[in-house]
Amino acid sequence: MFSRTTRQLSAVSSRLSRPSVMSSQFLRQYSFQVFRDAPPLRQMRRQLLLDQKTVGLVPTMGALHEGHISLIRQAAAENSDVFVSVYVNPTQFGVNEDLSSYPRTWDSDMAKLEEVNAELARQGGNVGRITAILAPTSKVMYPTLPPSSEIDGDGSFVTITPISKRLEGASRPVFFRGVATVCMKLFNIVRADRAYFGQKDVQQSVVIKRMVKDFHVDTEIRIGNTVRGQDGLAMSSRNVYLGARRHKVGLVLYTALKAAESAYAAGNVKRSDILDAANRITARVLSDQQALTPSERALFEVDYISLADPESLDELDVVDPSKGAVLSGAVKMAPLEESSAAEDCGLGDGKVAVRLIDNLIIKPRA
Ligand code: AMP
Repeated sequence: MFSRTTRQLSAVSSRLSRPSVMSSQFLRQYSFQVFRDAPPLRQMRRQLLLDQKTVGLVPTMGALHEGHISLIRQAAAENSDVFVSVYVNPTQFGVNEDLSSYPRTWDSDMAKLEEVNAELARQGGNVGRITAILAPTSKVMYPTLPPSSEIDGDGSFVTITPISKRLEGASRPVFFRGVATVCMKLFNIVRADRAYFGQKDVQQSVVIKRMVKDFHVDTEIRIGNTVRGQDGLAMSSRNVYLGARRHKVGLVLYTALKAAESAYAAGNVKRSDILDAANRITARVLSDQQALTPSERALFEVDYISLADPESLDELDVVDPSKGAVLSGAVKMAPLEESSAAEDCGLGDGKVAVRLIDNLIIKPRA
């Protein structure tokens, strides 16, 4: 499939010895190189190109879970070298959003990546390995101006409209500007053959594909399936804040989308017929919760349930079966009102509101 030599423990880039909050963590040796700056990573990438190796990039914000790992496995199946970026990008968080509370779990992330590399090594020469982690500082990613989260803030930004204004973008106006900007920076630094994104964030995948097309970025975008827990909840770094009660009630979104999917499978193509099936579920679950006491219930708000065109994300009145559609939604789980000491309330004691997103794809019929 592709040639590679097994990479032994390699020295951490000398650039990492510069003092920083994370420097002690970077002094450890891993089975991959850890880069905080672009030039040494580029040097490695250039050598890989000369050696006719291929690079698959998996951009992440850390707090790694099986969703991320599945993308890494896919990247390793399709490339000799997998680069994983770990960077919590400030410009995609609005001024009132949860940048400071976003989970940061460097040590366990590195341990998980080591486990994946051991698993890949057991598979032998037909799969690639994680060979580089890019964990840049914000000064590296935003060299000129401090990153701004203001809607009219200054800076060098990539904006992809109108897609970025729809769905998630309607509630999070700077989100996709931040995502597109950081991905463009990562793509320019890494110059990967392929970059891997999860279906879980469907609008992100549509925005990135559009950006790559419109800016002639020479990286192929690959989308991996949504990884779910056993009960069906889509995995997300933010799920650690849910706790048991909100986790269970949070399944309402997936259940509602499944109901809409079933309505389509039963022959309905009209928007109202498909989305009514989902809205009935959310309304019923919410009224069931409202009937409970504050120490028993988990309240939520439905931000949107959408039936949209897979490429433009324009809302659809009728599904054209030859084109398919995207069913997606967002639900905001409110903080718990009351809880007992023994209850599993998740990180943050149930006080952090958690926005859940999910989607199902209605595939075009052949
Ligand atoms: P994040 O760290 O949340 O920015 O996610 C990094 C990448 O992992 C993105 O491409 C996400 O779409 C993807 N991802 C996150 N959760 C999942 C999941 N449950 N299944 C598949 N991919 C996921």
